[in-house]
Amino acid sequence: MPLSDKIRGNALEKTWVVMCPRWESAEHINKPHGWALFKKALEQVGSDYFNSKMDCIVCGNKFSLQQGVSEAFASDVAINDFLYNASERGQLEITVGKLTKIHFAKPFESTPTVILNPYLKHVDAVPGYITASDFVVFSCSNSDEEEKRNIIWHAIGNRASETIPIWRGLLSNAKGHQLGKNYRSEIVELESAFEVFIAEYLGKNLKTKLRQGTIDWLLKLSIEEQIKIGFMELAGHTLAKLYPTEYREWQKSVKEMRDKIVHRGFQATPKQAKDARKATFDLITRADTSSMEHFQIQMKNIGVDGPHLTFGTATGTETQQAIQHGLCF
Ligand SMILES: [Zn+2]
Repeated sequence: MPLSDKIRGNALEKTWVVMCPRWESAEHINKPHGWALFKKALEQVGSDYFNSKMDCIVCGNKFSLQQGVSEAFASDVAINDFLYNASERGQLEITVGKLTKIHFAKPFESTPTVILNPYLKHVDAVPGYITASDFVVFSCSNSDEEEKRNIIWHAIGNRASETIPIWRGLLSNAKGHQLGKNYRSEIVELESAFEVFIAEYLGKNLKTKLRQGTIDWLLKLSIEEQIKIGFMELAGHTLAKLYPTEYREWQKSVKEMRDKIVHRGFQATPKQAKDARKATFDLITRADTSSMEHFQIQMKNIGVDGPHLTFGTATGTETQQAIQHGLCF
């Protein structure tokens, strides 16, 4: 990182957003369901993504990083953290009725989404004049007295720190469809993302094993045949044999669902979309462990011993309502 960032204290760090696989259990009611991994948790995981190296900060349940990110990726709570690659949040005190301007630690690539959560005491406040580098908090007051209020703000957007692979971009598009509850488009996009991922992965890794002409021929076959032949060449076994559960889930929830939608106009339920999300994520991360890095998010502060960011859904009402990163200890 550039030295000037360190001096200014504007360094951005990368982390993963996870959810406890038991977030729907009684122990998690009105407590955080997910959080951004803090420094100690990141150290504990290291590069061991598939073994149970993490402890739930609420119920103590042990799970692997891949499971935690998979849970968050499949959920309807942390959509923005997979739609965008950067997140920043802060607290501020405002004087009701007066404009307050906030500058981001580093500009976003384009205008980010800004969410305001008043805490301690309610206030009507909205973000406005949002640009890539700052925004303004508007609030209104009915009294002449100077009233102070506390607000947590949260900005989510993209920062161009590296080249984003096309398959990851398509997964972001799928997240956009999820946000709009367009589940059929979401499943079609998830399947496309997977196909592009496989083509990129095989194209890159088979180069040392096969002639370019053979690779080109292989990548024209159906996705199932590509996976079968490609992984036989690379790993000595088909993906279906290496990861039978993940492969079957992908075939059923993603490939077959996508075909039903495209060829026969099938409708998709929220549950089917969730299954497709999870299956896509699970097979991609199994096929190529290093793909996990593309699901990280850039944040200004991730915390040392505990998470700087927690989130969950409020329970106790009939319909669960998602609270974006508002639930703090
Ligand atoms: Zn838990």
